[in-house]
Amino acid sequence: MMALIAALVLTRTAAYTSPRAPVVAGNWKMNPGTAEEALALAEALDAVEGREVVVFPPSCYLEAVARKTNKNVALGAQDACVLAESGAFTGAVSLPMLKMPRVDYVLCGHSERRSLFSDDDDAIRAKVRGALDAGFAAMLCIGETQQEYELGITDDICALQLAKALEGVTAAEMANVVVAYEPVWAIGTGLVCPATVAQRVHASMRQRLRATYDSSVADACRILYGGSASPLVIDGIMRQPDIDGVLVGGAALDAATFNQVSNFHAGWWRTRSFLKKVLHR
Ligand code: PEP
Repeated sequence: MMALIAALVLTRTAAYTSPRAPVVAGNWKMNPGTAEEALALAEALDAVEGREVVVFPPSCYLEAVARKTNKNVALGAQDACVLAESGAFTGAVSLPMLKMPRVDYVLCGHSERRSLFSDDDDAIRAKVRGALDAGFAAMLCIGETQQEYELGITDDICALQLAKALEGVTAAEMANVVVAYEPVWAIGTGLVCPATVAQRVHASMRQRLRATYDSSVADACRILYGGSASPLVIDGIMRQPDIDGVLVGGAALDAATFNQVSNFHAGWWRTRSFLKKVLHR
């Protein structure tokens, strides 16, 4: 028994490969301002064993960033137009156009898309559907506003957004969905949702997935936290048993800072919660 426990501890502290490999994702938004800066940032990113590091540059930089980043850093598009594959859609980039080497993810439902570009639940569902059909993984963002947080309706809002976006997504397709819980009030504000509060929301979303699909889908689905995550708070966030990584905005624009986030130490506490689960099965 002791040997088994020791083996489990070593496995979990060396690399978080099971049951859910953590994801550290960087959303560059409409940054940086020049291709040179984008390439310098791309080149300086660490790939970390046992963790999935993903960056979402502006689509005009994707191809060049793919050439410059470590091949173990995955790439994603920040959005995609799903109205058509090509045609008279000024300013839009379609899913087939994003089919480039190393581009694995499409971000769907980011709060800035919801609030600034009027992406509603139907549009987000169509983007998730389109991304999956086109062979991408969908990184689906959900999250409540400040007012909804203060009203205590976070779980209901998030559950609704989750259900609407995943309408028609099968259990098998869920292997290609990553969920990011991003309280809107914490995005770009410097306010971080307390780790224990985020943990409660994550556990609740996992429970919704269990009810909609089954335990294997719920237990395998990576649910990330997003909202002013930084090296200062990452270790505390990643100690939470239902938080499987982070989606980072501002802190993703400085390679050294983002690398610190990617190299987080979840430490003994996360290992302990994993052990608790395994031993109580
Ligand atoms: C985001 O844009 O998804 C985000 C979490 O931004 P920030 O880390 O800057 O709050």
